[in-house]
Amino acid sequence: MADDLLKRFESVRVFAKGGKLAPHKPLLLLYALSKLKSEKAERISFTDAEDVVSPLIQTYGPFNAKTTVAYPFARLANDKSKIWWIDEYEKNASGDLNLTEARDRKLQAGFSHDVLAAFRKNPKLIDNVAVNLLERNFSPSLHQDILEAVGLYLGDDEIEAVIRRKRDPKFRYKVLTAYYEQCCVCKYDIKMNGAAVALEAAHIKMHSAGGPDEVPNGLSLCVIHHKLFDLGAITVDKDMKVRVSERVVGDWGRKLNDEFHEKEISQPRNEGMLPAGQFIQWHNQQIFKGLV
Ligand SMILES: [Zn+2]
Repeated sequence: MADDLLKRFESVRVFAKGGKLAPHKPLLLLYALSKLKSEKAERISFTDAEDVVSPLIQTYGPFNAKTTVAYPFARLANDKSKIWWIDEYEKNASGDLNLTEARDRKLQAGFSHDVLAAFRKNPKLIDNVAVNLLERNFSPSLHQDILEAVGLYLGDDEIEAVIRRKRDPKFRYKVLTAYYEQCCVCKYDIKMNGAAVALEAAHIKMHSAGGPDEVPNGLSLCVIHHKLFDLGAITVDKDMKVRVSERVVGDWGRKLNDEFHEKEISQPRNEGMLPAGQFIQWHNQQIFKGLV
């Protein structure tokens, strides 16, 4: 039963545009899970979803577009998985939601009846489904931010264990050592009592997308550059040069661009440790927020 439900959530077709996967549906589903867990709300209104999920689509979606939560709010109900329900609604000329009508009426949607029944019977499934959605769609460094943004708190040792289970604990050591325990972008290398702090091993291709725990799929990055990398604000191109997204703004955006755009990352100990082309290409295409 639990496996069946997870499989149905896994089968949801993730929206793709210009070859980039876009996590509109996972973000809406995580918000709906949060409302169900924290408020026992079995339905969410379109206006609430717009307030919370549309900004997240802008942050975590891969492109600079005006796509909002209206898309998954309505289209999820057509998915083969049959996990979503939406009240009757008026369509515009292109067959999408009529936004004015949806807002005025506070159009309702939510999980389908049998999905709600499964969650009622086994509330732990809410956490399991949420972890699964996070694992499959977002880099681990973003999980906590997303959970807080949708107001979903897992707080369960078992869930933590699920998140950690699949990682190779040696990955961090191998990647950091390969880059002399420095951020390969800015050379940050503070140590306390001999141990590197606020320095992390980033996966170039996400673990859940099939990226291996191997040095050519890793970069040694300070926490700031790691998060920017996972958000697609920066990437590394096939010539090992840093690229800064044109969506990055602000004084610090200017600084990031001036200091690092088109500058080579620091070299690892040997050539075999350099990022592999296939993983770089995946990050360039799937995560980096270049202009579309
Ligand atoms: Zn750095």
